[in-house]
Amino acid sequence: MDLNSDEFFYGINKSLYFKTEEQKNEMKKMDPEYITKTGTDFVLLPNSPEFINHNEPFEPMYIPKQTILEESLRREIERICFADTLLNKVVFDCADPSPFNKDTDPNVYGLEVLPYYIPQTKEDTTLVFESRFESGNLRRAIQICDYEYNLILKPDYYTTMNTQWFYFSLSNTRKDVEYRFNIINMMKPDSLYNSGMKPLMYSEQGAKHKKIGWFRDGHEICYYQNNMKRKNGGYYYTLTFAVKFQYDFDCIYIAHCYPYTYTHLCRYLKQLESDPAKKNRVKRKQLCQTIAGNTCDFLIIGDFNNGKEKKGIVITSRVHPGETMASYVMEYMIDFLTGNTHEARILRENFIFKIVPMLNIDGVVNGNYRCNLAGVDLNRQWIDPNKKQHPTIYHTKQLVKKTKEERDLVLFCDIHGHSRKKNIFMYGCSGKDPNRKELVFPMLNRNNCSVFSFKDCCFLLQKDREGSARIALWREFSIINCYTLEMSFCGADFGKYEYFHFNLDIYKEIAQSFCLSIIDCYEPEQIKVKQMMEEIEQNSLKNQQKDDKNNSGDEGSDYSNDDPKEQAMPQQIQVQSNDQQLGSQTKKLKKIPLLPPKKKKGL
Ligand SMILES: [Zn+2]
Repeated sequence: MDLNSDEFFYGINKSLYFKTEEQKNEMKKMDPEYITKTGTDFVLLPNSPEFINHNEPFEPMYIPKQTILEESLRREIERICFADTLLNKVVFDCADPSPFNKDTDPNVYGLEVLPYYIPQTKEDTTLVFESRFESGNLRRAIQICDYEYNLILKPDYYTTMNTQWFYFSLSNTRKDVEYRFNIINMMKPDSLYNSGMKPLMYSEQGAKHKKIGWFRDGHEICYYQNNMKRKNGGYYYTLTFAVKFQYDFDCIYIAHCYPYTYTHLCRYLKQLESDPAKKNRVKRKQLCQTIAGNTCDFLIIGDFNNGKEKKGIVITSRVHPGETMASYVMEYMIDFLTGNTHEARILRENFIFKIVPMLNIDGVVNGNYRCNLAGVDLNRQWIDPNKKQHPTIYHTKQLVKKTKEERDLVLFCDIHGHSRKKNIFMYGCSGKDPNRKELVFPMLNRNNCSVFSFKDCCFLLQKDREGSARIALWREFSIINCYTLEMSFCGADFGKYEYFHFNLDIYKEIAQSFCLSIIDCYEPEQIKVKQMMEEIEQNSLKNQQKDDKNNSGDEGSDYSNDDPKEQAMPQQIQVQSNDQQLGSQTKKLKKIPLLPPKKKKGL
């Protein structure tokens, strides 16, 4: 085998595996931010694609076929009945050593690692999977037929759950062949994949030849409960989809939402800082270090004149690593606030913004969906965050406290993605103001943003969300306008974008209308605020039940079916299967190496 010949790699992204010192140094020169600390034993390969074409047309959702569930279940039963005839060949595992090239020393070829599977001939059509890059989280791929694969995702570190986000690549494609992928260890009871949502894909050939960035693709998409029992009760769910690729020997990336890595954020912040026009509008400061030792920065935005009388606003995002759209909206907000428009100037003159763009950096780096490296949902830790286990929450809370001491802190918002509902909406807190002023800011957003749905907003104080940023900070610091901004992973179910997926244009509109709503909310004449208060009065919103149960599907209820015991006792990955029925594909998953021992201290 000649590893250096192009034929050897057959469309595998060769540069992904090259990591000689010389090449590493070369890369560092080009991109000093590319190496991030994982806090785990994982190899982190460089360069996953970020290119998104901003001129891409709006992509329609698919219309679910009536018989799709029947067909998917039929296929599932066939796989069980004819289990003996399936290939059941493990063609990728991100942690276990590969039996295919165990005698090959990658160093001989100047590589740090080899792909798990390497096609032996040009006729070998086996796909070559990879996920050992930033935010990647495919644990294992099992080929069950020539063009069909079962995929298993890594759960969040120190948990056995939270599989929903996915990001991986595959190479050695053949064009116009129908491939089918079944992600078989999903955990949420329902998914927007049954309501028109398609997965995102990126083709290296498509990007190179046609300048196409991330795009939606896939057909015969279905999300259903499968027959694999979970250890502590209940069953796993499968996301299945078919797809035809456009090119031979292409490398395709597949993701749950547009990826947005920590590296991406570092590059963006660096660019922001080095923009001479923005130098007097934004300051970048270090908030703290994460458990893995990554730097968490925050921004202060304002015109930095006459500090004290300016009102304070704190905005945070990406406490949940899999909710990547939050980062795009955050980036557009920062762009707007530091921009040249008249409105941006008004905002900088009247407010000081403190912004923490990525609260769960380690989770983002390691491909988690929800938790940090201590295995906890950081958005349940705001009442009494631990400095060592939840450093970004601890220090953000200090930042909020300090802002409150310095000035009138008028607004807090934490940006999220929502996995079961469509539209954009907010969660707020009712109870302190008899006039229900907390409704006003979401109503202003409704007026300014075409996809914002006020009817999806909820102002209920749920017991199990007491530890969320919204409720904990509202209670402790009496911030009436204390919100979670939620954006669907899918799209809108009303208005001019009904049946279309959200894309960067929409994220930009949300960010800008959020900023404009701040002006509407706090301008001295209070013209629009008065209109909203009238509307509240007229529609008896004031006396309406504060807890609209229909809308209470909040930041965490996706797991309402989960066994609480499982959450209380996080364990290492162990996907249990009904072996007789589904074969050996999942039963022998070895434990994933977790934090190196020294890092475990203090957890
Ligand atoms: Zn969230």
